[in-house]
Formats: sequence, structure tokens, C-alpha cells
Amino acid sequence: MVRETSVDVAVVGNGVLGLAVAVETARRAPGLRIAVIGPPGRAGAATAAAGAMLNCFGEVTRYTGWHPAAQAKFALARQALDQWPRWLEQLADDAGPPTGETALRSHVPGTFVVLGAGAGAIAADNFTALCRAVEEHGEPHDVIDPADVPGLAPAPQARPLRAVHLHREGCVDARAVLAALEAAACRHRVRMVPDTVSEVLVSADTVRGVRLADGSTLGAGAVVLAAGSRSSELTADVLPPGAVPPLLHGAGSALLTRRTRPGGARQAIRTPNRAAGCGLHLLPLPGTERQYLGATNFITCTRPDGPVAGAAEILIRSARQEIDQALAGSQLTAWMWGARPITLDGFPLIGPCPVAGLHFATGTYRDGFHCAPVIARHLAARLLGPGPADADWAWFTPYRAPIETMTVEQSLTETATHAAETAREHGLHLPFFLDDEPVATYVRDRAHRLFDRLGHPVALPPEILLLAFILAARGNDHPARWLADHLHAAHTHHAPVPGA
Ligand SMILES: Cc1cc2nc3c(=O)[nH]c(=O)nc-3n(C[C@H](O)[C@H](O)[C@H](O)COP(=O)(O)OP(=O)(O)OC[C@H]3O[C@@H](n4cnc5c(N)ncnc54)[C@H](O)[C@@H]3O)c2cc1C
Repeated sequence: MVRETSVDVAVVGNGVLGLAVAVETARRAPGLRIAVIGPPGRAGAATAAAGAMLNCFGEVTRYTGWHPAAQAKFALARQALDQWPRWLEQLADDAGPPTGETALRSHVPGTFVVLGAGAGAIAADNFTALCRAVEEHGEPHDVIDPADVPGLAPAPQARPLRAVHLHREGCVDARAVLAALEAAACRHRVRMVPDTVSEVLVSADTVRGVRLADGSTLGAGAVVLAAGSRSSELTADVLPPGAVPPLLHGAGSALLTRRTRPGGARQAIRTPNRAAGCGLHLLPLPGTERQYLGATNFITCTRPDGPVAGAAEILIRSARQEIDQALAGSQLTAWMWGARPITLDGFPLIGPCPVAGLHFATGTYRDGFHCAPVIARHLAARLLGPGPADADWAWFTPYRAPIETMTVEQSLTETATHAAETAREHGLHLPFFLDDEPVATYVRDRAHRLFDRLGHPVALPPEILLLAFILAARGNDHPARWLADHLHAAHTHHAPVPGA
């Protein structure tokens, strides 16, 4: 039997973004009928696998200052840093005891960023950029002796050379915050629909609602697409090809451990972001001997099936080597895995699109948990009115050609550097008479060939180009074809109209 109902706002996706948008909107407009649709198990969701670090300056890379879009992304993360303490208190109130208190107690302020002796040039550059950014913005921090970082006990050859303590950045238990968001949503009378959306319903260029996997439809005046890395699957039939940058899956593994020896981290310890990946991090879960260890990052354009053994191996080996050798004796209590939503150009998709009433809230890649409060406030304002006009947010409009933050030649060179550094991080040793150049040359040559095929070369982020390169080297041509198709579609769709 087909069941027909309707709401004012249907949020597709029950991760941190979908829930935060729903709670914020319900708080501002108590009479509005809001539904959040998503499978309770959240298999493969990024939110369920995140730590989560609440990092803005900790996420700075050498690319942060390169382009106004990257600066706008940094500004968003800075707002989130300011808003988290108050947002968490408000969430705890909304959720009520005991769920709200558990989320509030899981917040541990303070992050140590450490640069190990074995770090490559990109990680070292990122660390320098981070130190410059904290100075420039007057962010409270201390440059400290790495020997003074509590719980840091790496292998002797990987002992850190430099360390900085960020006072305001820290971490929360993502699962506790998620539970509080669910409780808050229920108390605000947001309807939770434990299903999957199979189709976004559109007619006359206006969103009408969604169809669920059980065949029923839910009418809605507005639909918020917050289905993480799976969001693009739902727009293929409602938006022309190339209109919105597609999403890829940044697969990441992490684990929870219980310490069997005294000591351990009391605040977050992380490395800077490294070549083609994120920083390695160890997060304490307060009041327990449990800690979170993350994370790997491998970008794919088709939905991955689940974690791979190689990711587990590299995560444990790197963490023992660079952060705490005693991890080897810890009890493993959970493996976690999820796919970060990353767009083709690496920037988020936030706000309305050419289909009236259809809004995006995704593409947040590796700091979507941290940015959720700010994105939720922005989206709630847009759902309830025209919203504030802001040049920074304009960069993230879903209806755009891929943003290019560098030239094509720079993108090729950066990709080659990332590949060479990643190879070394994974244990590549060359003969004494060779440096990294053969690896970099090989990658640059392959990437050039890829660009020749693209027809419309676009300066893609090195992480995305590496995906096509790595899989092409393994004989898998699909990512290269996928990239070529999408870039061609984007070029065609967003080409300037002659004489316009
Ligand atoms: C290992 C790992 C570590 C991370 N660490 C951090 C960190 O320390 N700090 C930080 O800020 N960020 C971190 N991130 C990134 C962060 O988790 C993401 O940016 C953020 O969680 C994205 O949230 P989301 O709600 O957009 O997507 P998701 O969390 O992926 O949620 C999307 C939801 O939509 C549901 N869904 C999918 N398809 C449908 C459909 N058709 N119908 C209905 N529902 C659907 C899914 O089941 C899922 O629950 C990490 C990510 C990973 C994987």
C-alpha cells in the first residue's frame, strides 16, 4: 500500500549535517513540519566513523591561503571554532539528560599538533602554514617542546621535532554528539523516518518531495540533500549533467581502543595534514581509558564496499610509530569506517540550486563535523527566508563549475610531489644515487597523459588527480573516464554564452 504524507522540510540524510540542519530549523520555527530520512544503521556514513576533532587551525595546509575559495572555507571553520562551545551547551539543553550531558562531557578542549622527524616536505609545509596562521589571527597557542606533550611516546626515530598546543581546538565523541542530536530532534518534534530516499521528486523545476525505498512518497515544500557522499546519486535525474560538481567517497578507517597501561593522551594529539591524506590523530574519550585513533583516506569515485586490510595496517603502524608505541598492547574495541563526502573540486556544496526548494548540505570532506554548527545555521536561515548575502558562502553554491585554486601546471606538479611523498611514507626506498625525482617524473607523465584525455583540463586538487592516477596504474581506467565525462559536462553546462 502506498502511503502519502507531506511535510514542510524533508532532510535527506541522518548524519551530523542532516540532523544539525533539522534541529536548528526546528529551533527557529517550532511550527514547521520537518522530517529527517535516513537508515538507522548509517552504514558507511562519515559521521559515524569520525573522531571527532574540532579543528580549524589544525586543518590548515599550505593551500589555505592560495585562493579566495580556500580562504572562505577557512573563515567558515573559524566561525565554527567560535561557535562550538555555545552550540554544544544549547544542544545539551535541547537533548536533555542524560544524552545531552554525555555529549557535553565528551568535549575535550586542547590539541597538540606534532611534526615528526619522518614527516615529508608537504606535512612540514602544512605545519609551517599552521604556525603562521595562528600568529596572524592571534589564535591562543603555545609553541612547546614535543617532549612535554602528555601521552606522546613515539618510536625513537619518529620523535617529533616541533609541537604546538592549540588551546581552543579539541575533540568530542562523535557518537555521543550524534545521539544528542537525535534526542534534540525528537524533542523538537522532528519526524525521524527510518528509510532511504530513492528519488527526489521534481516537476516544473520545483521540488515536490521524495520517494522512499518502500515505495511511499513524502511531499515537501523544501528538500535538503545531506546524504553525504551518496548525495549525487539522488540528483542524476533532476539536475542536468555538469550543473553541480559530483561527490566522491573519501573512505576512511579508524579504531577505538581501550588502554591496558596507565598514561595515554589527555588531549587530542595529531600530526599536520599530510600528502594526499589527513593528519594522524589520537583522541581521548573522557572518563574512560578509551581512545579513538584515526584515520586513513582513500578517495574513490564508485561507492566502496567497506574497509580494506591495507588501511588497517597503515593506520596501526603509523600510530605506533609516530604517536604511541604502547598502542600495540591496547584492546581493540571497534573498527569504524565511513566515506567522507568530497566534491570534484574539494569545496562543499551548501545552499539552493536551480531546482526551486532543493538545497544541498554536503561535500564537507574531512572537517564536516567541526563545521556542522555554522552550516546548519546558514541552511536554517536560507530555509526560512532569503538568508544573509555573504561573499564567502557564494563560493560554495552548488550550481558552479569546478573551482580551480591553481593552474593546471601547478596541479600536475603538486600531484607529483604528493605521490612521491606518499610513496616514501609507505616505505619506498630508492638507491642512494636517486632522489624522489623518478617517482615524481613518472606521476607527472601519467597525469599529463590523463589531462590530454580530459579535453578540458581543469586544475583538480592533487588528492583527486592521484585517485585517477593510482587506479590507472593498476589497469583500472574507470576513474579517468569518469573524470573526463564530468569535466566535459561541467565545461558544456557552464560555458559562457557567446555575446552574453
Ligand atoms: C574516518 C573519518 C574521520 C573523520 N574525522 C573527522 C574529524 O575529526 N573532524 C571533522 O570535522 N570531520 C571528520 N570527518 C569528516 C566528517 O565525518 C564529515 O565531513 C561529516 O560527518 C559529513 O557529514 P554528513 O552528514 O554530510 O554525511 P554522513 O555522515 O555520511 O551522513 C549521510 C547520511 O545520509 C544517509 N543516506 C545516504 N543515502 C541516503 C538516502 N538515499 N536516503 C536517506 N539517507 C541516506 C547515510 O546513511 C548517512 O547516515 C571524518 C570522516 C571520516 C570518514
